[in-house]
Amino acid sequence: MAVENPGYRKKFYIESYGCAMNFSDSEIVASILNDNGFGATRNFEEADLVLLNTCSIREKAEQTVRSRLHIFRQVKQSRPGMLIGVLGCMAERLKEKFLEEERLVDMVVGPDAYRTLPGLIGEAETGQKAVNVLLSREETYADISPVRLDSNGVAAFVSIMRGCNNMCSFCVVPFTRGRERSRDAVSIVRECRDLFHRGYREVTLLGQNVDSYYWMEEGGLPDASDTVVTFAGLLEKVASIDPSLRVRFSTSHPKDITDEVLYTIARHENICRYIHLPVQSGSTRILQLMNRTYTREWYLAKIDRIRSILPDCGLSTDIIAGFCSETDEDHRDSLTLMEYARYDMSYMFFYSERPGTLAARRYRDDIPEEAKRKRLDEIVKLQNRLSLESNRGDIGKTFEILIEGDSKKSAADWKGRSSQNKVVVFPKTDGSYQKGDYVRVKVVDCTGATLIGRALLH
Ligand code: SAM
Ligand code: SF4
Repeated sequence: MAVENPGYRKKFYIESYGCAMNFSDSEIVASILNDNGFGATRNFEEADLVLLNTCSIREKAEQTVRSRLHIFRQVKQSRPGMLIGVLGCMAERLKEKFLEEERLVDMVVGPDAYRTLPGLIGEAETGQKAVNVLLSREETYADISPVRLDSNGVAAFVSIMRGCNNMCSFCVVPFTRGRERSRDAVSIVRECRDLFHRGYREVTLLGQNVDSYYWMEEGGLPDASDTVVTFAGLLEKVASIDPSLRVRFSTSHPKDITDEVLYTIARHENICRYIHLPVQSGSTRILQLMNRTYTREWYLAKIDRIRSILPDCGLSTDIIAGFCSETDEDHRDSLTLMEYARYDMSYMFFYSERPGTLAARRYRDDIPEEAKRKRLDEIVKLQNRLSLESNRGDIGKTFEILIEGDSKKSAADWKGRSSQNKVVVFPKTDGSYQKGDYVRVKVVDCTGATLIGRALLH
């Protein structure tokens, strides 16, 4: 949902689903709409324009969007002038078909076509259906200043690249978000510096595969290192804006994360000790079918490398249960890999076949739903144990916490995060602090999801 903005000609309402990239894109859309006389509202019933920024990654994500559309249909019946637009991955995947399937939708706009929104809205206002799902090889929206939606004023997402060239066999992203392209480094640093001056204290650099970030200044030669910026170089530049600006990033691909990146993190205290390193499966055979281009052993060696260069680094992963042909033994490989990596947190899914992907074309989705759920359940149980063990291991330790706001459970407590991305709560009575402050907090207790601490007085 969006922040209220008085003084605009019309009102738009936007809801985002799926990954951080989509939430970041919605902030670009908000900026384009603000420039064209639309202010945000949190109440869709009063909106002239309702937008859904959609996700296609699993079937369930698409079903959620469809049920939201049913709700909007009822509102539209009483307010026929209201326009409904579908943005993002589902728009790209279904294209014009969306208009046939969901008659109430007026606009279908793919992730590279947001600059054309004002024209498409104009078209839709005349009663025509408007569609633009062209993918681009260049669009990065580099010059657009995102309007921060639902921001805590402390942490912000900054998109550094778009698209993906990896072609993991289960994944729809390369089809919905197009070819990989990196955003101009100068505009990234400018956006981060601007956020810092506006009081933000944390930026998360976003891309499907941040380690393959590569930007070359126009006219630069590929061998002139000063004109080429790699991901390590970009991290260095953003971290150098100010030591009190925390830098995070997501997502790393295990095949691409380099020692140079790990050493850059080690050199800068303000680059957070936290790496999200999606493994997907612990079985080399399944990894091959998934086209992940690494083996179990290669991944484990990467974990060892991270632990040796960054001993205090937090680790999390994405893992899929029940991919095509997965045996009990393959599944056990995933469990033992999780034990070895001792992840602090995981995003865990069961495999959902996506039309058009390599896996849908090549392999049979042959693991019964019940078996997928049982395996996923075992993965979740194991992760709950690992998270609790990891948190218990922090009891007695002291961490620097960046305060993000009130704790969800009680306004008497602050909530913040450690460099390792763990949520930490502590009583406000421990001192006089504000949102955006750094505080040293000693952990005294924990749950599986949260560390509970006491602030140390300076
Ligand atoms: N680019 C990132 C990467 O390489 O890991 C993340 C991409 S995706 C938005 C986030 C996660 O969704 C993936 O890491 C994967 O675990 C999961 N995912 C993607 N396609 C899926 C599918 N067809 N079924 C189940 N989970 C899927
Ligand atoms: Fe999908 Fe693989 Fe690209 Fe991640 S790296 S977005 S999982 S194709």
